[in-house]
Amino acid sequence: MRLLSFDHGVHPAEYKSFSSSKPIEVQPLPNEVFVPLQQHIGRPCEPLVKKKDEVKTGQVIGQASGFVSSPVHSSVTGVVKNIGFFMHSMGHRIPMIHIERKGEDDWEYLEKPDDWKSASVEELDKVILSAGIVGMGGAAFPTHVKLKVLPEKPIDTFILNGCECEPYLTCDHRMMLEKSDRILEGMAIAMKVLNVKDGFIGIENNKKDAIEAMRQRVEAGGYPFKVVPLKVKYPQGAEKMLIKAIVNRKVPTGGLPGDVGVIVSNVGTVHAIMEAVVEGKPLVSRVVAVTGDAIQTPKNVEARVGTPLKSVLENCGGLKENVTQVIMGGPMMGFSQFDVSIPIVKATSGIVCSGLTSEVAEKVYPCIRCNSCVTACPMYLLPNRLSRLSEKAFYEESDQLGILNCIECGSCVYVCPSNIPILQWLRVGKYKVNELKRKQT
Ligand code: SF4
Ligand code: SF4
Repeated sequence: MRLLSFDHGVHPAEYKSFSSSKPIEVQPLPNEVFVPLQQHIGRPCEPLVKKKDEVKTGQVIGQASGFVSSPVHSSVTGVVKNIGFFMHSMGHRIPMIHIERKGEDDWEYLEKPDDWKSASVEELDKVILSAGIVGMGGAAFPTHVKLKVLPEKPIDTFILNGCECEPYLTCDHRMMLEKSDRILEGMAIAMKVLNVKDGFIGIENNKKDAIEAMRQRVEAGGYPFKVVPLKVKYPQGAEKMLIKAIVNRKVPTGGLPGDVGVIVSNVGTVHAIMEAVVEGKPLVSRVVAVTGDAIQTPKNVEARVGTPLKSVLENCGGLKENVTQVIMGGPMMGFSQFDVSIPIVKATSGIVCSGLTSEVAEKVYPCIRCNSCVTACPMYLLPNRLSRLSEKAFYEESDQLGILNCIECGSCVYVCPSNIPILQWLRVGKYKVNELKRKQT
């Protein structure tokens, strides 16, 4: 059978076997959590609590401060110790609410309809917004905004993203095996909000057991969804690549999936929708793959948002002596960490603990113009040229060459024989171009 896919892309080694067979374990409740007031794209939250306040699990502690924003909730029952600036996985300090846990969970649940099937779209929208759900595949875009259909851009297709194309990561794989029915119910709720009938589930063909499990549960539940096995290629799970592979539509340059009538959502995100709408639980925990050759016991753990990374590592037996890198996210798009006090956030899909010296930054050589980065780029950009322009601070030129279309997949870096930190320069360039655009408006 010819498997669907997109053009360009790369085939990195997988390394998924460290944790792919490990059932999801619930991480013990942390003694303290650090809940960032910004865990989403958009405006940060405003704190609703102050030092010494008592809080319950699920209580809103930060309110959304605009349409493109998302509330945050306490992930434990305890007392607010501090509201201040703490280290974040992006390498700088941001405002967080530090809570000390006191005992077991005393839940504060969301207001929700008795039966989502007979609820109105407005009621469902309200629960999804108040649950603080954001894209859990890494993008962290507020889900209530994504599910808002504009009259001029009707949506006819929903795609559930079960690709998990990053090497090492296995949390979505395990969720599809262990929580299939809950995921499918969440998908059905999202499709009701969007009022779409066509639903596809895209899964890379290296997760045959998940394809089979989802097919069985789709059939058992009588869902009109189609499970689509996809070619194993990186970045198959990027929205634009997934849409091209499954429905053969091309999202225009600078556009969004909604421009071609499609909404894509991650496995974890629709699971969070189900938990909010059916069980009244806000987004206070997520499944994280803790993996790699430099962690004692690789696991998939369900951890509370705000749990310090060091607690999660300790729960997996700690780091091995050979560790050279701890990456938050996958090795292709994630960020190396230098401080293990940083918290798990809503978008943390994995922690990769690596002792492979080949993945540590090596000596950088001049560009040999081999063109490998160009033929790897799924967005048809010129990574070599864009990286050079950013390095030399020619931001307007890089804007003209489409730097903002870079999806930061890292395929160009993966193939570069000269070890040029292309992606780092592209991130700098994108930041500067966006800054220039903001100043001009
Ligand atoms: S230029 Fe951007 S989109 Fe293209 S391969 Fe590099 S990181 Fe990916
Ligand atoms: S892959 Fe590296 S060496 Fe080859 S053209 Fe691109 S930047 Fe230059």
